[in-house]
Amino acid sequence: MINGVGVGGSWGWAVWGWVLGDDRDVADVSGLLRVGSGVDLGAIDPAGTPGLPDRKGVRRDPKGWARAELVTLGQELARQQEMLFANAKVNPADQRRVLLVLQAMDCGGKDGTVKKVAGTMNPEGLRITAFGPPTAEERQHDFLWRIRRALPLPGYLGIFNRSHYEDVLVVRVRRLAPPRVWKPRYEKINSFERELVDSGFSLVKVMLHISYEEQRRRLLERLRDPTKYWKYNPDDVDNRAYWPAYQQAYQDAIQRCGTDHAPWHVVPADRKWYRDWAVAHLILDALKRLDLSYPPADFDPRAETKRLEREETGSAPKVNGR
Ligand code: AMP
Ligand code: MG
Repeated sequence: MINGVGVGGSWGWAVWGWVLGDDRDVADVSGLLRVGSGVDLGAIDPAGTPGLPDRKGVRRDPKGWARAELVTLGQELARQQEMLFANAKVNPADQRRVLLVLQAMDCGGKDGTVKKVAGTMNPEGLRITAFGPPTAEERQHDFLWRIRRALPLPGYLGIFNRSHYEDVLVVRVRRLAPPRVWKPRYEKINSFERELVDSGFSLVKVMLHISYEEQRRRLLERLRDPTKYWKYNPDDVDNRAYWPAYQQAYQDAIQRCGTDHAPWHVVPADRKWYRDWAVAHLILDALKRLDLSYPPADFDPRAETKRLEREETGSAPKVNGR
């Protein structure tokens, strides 16, 4: 039995499976969190923990277990990411790259997820971009213009902290553009993502799903701690009045842009330790699907070793006769 599975019936039992070759009883987290055109956000418990193993050791201290697991997952993430980077470096024809698209309501935990999950990997191979309100220059272009400019190069793991989806979320809910502008964007997003996948991208789209009450707790936390004032935005409180409209806009975006090649995942995010554990799994699964290995040498390692061993140790070639 797995905690949280079957919430509202929307997770489905069909996706349940054990990860082959893994001796730990970890479920197919990606499969459990993947949602399709029938998604009902209201039926997904933001405090749920789908896929978390239900054994004594985990039940006793789920948070401690998940935090420890994140360290192990992080090591594997770093290894996989290095292999992705190495392959692109030695083979310019290798166009593979991974893009994590993170969306959430305010206080949903996007920043924390970037810190905790991306923090396990080598910064050299990461391209992290946060999207705020479009600048004057960005407004002069199509909504995908700034997104294209932020795409990761081959070999990189890209992370979007907010994304092109804001253009069918905040823009719709706060009426920043009329329906005739934002409605056609769902289809534009689908063709754009199709184009990305066809050119070597693996897309991992994640909505961090928090509750209305948890958002309030987190806003209050920011107000209690002067080191968190910089994260506080009075607009976020105004936005709470639009909560149902946002949930509807999220549900529509997920339903209309959840495709086989670029599916959406809804990660219950009221518990930060579950959120980080789940997102780490989602990225790791995407990397594992690439079946990566370290690139073989395009030189003869034995001959190279001999060349170095033949050198007289400790005597560098003379520079300027010295
Ligand atoms: P934060 O993520 O807290 O730094 O806030 C970024 C703000 O930028 C949020 O209020 C978003 O709704 C807003 N934002 C992001 N993308 C867009 C967009 N395309 N149009 C309008 N506002 C946006
Ligand atoms: Mg904010």
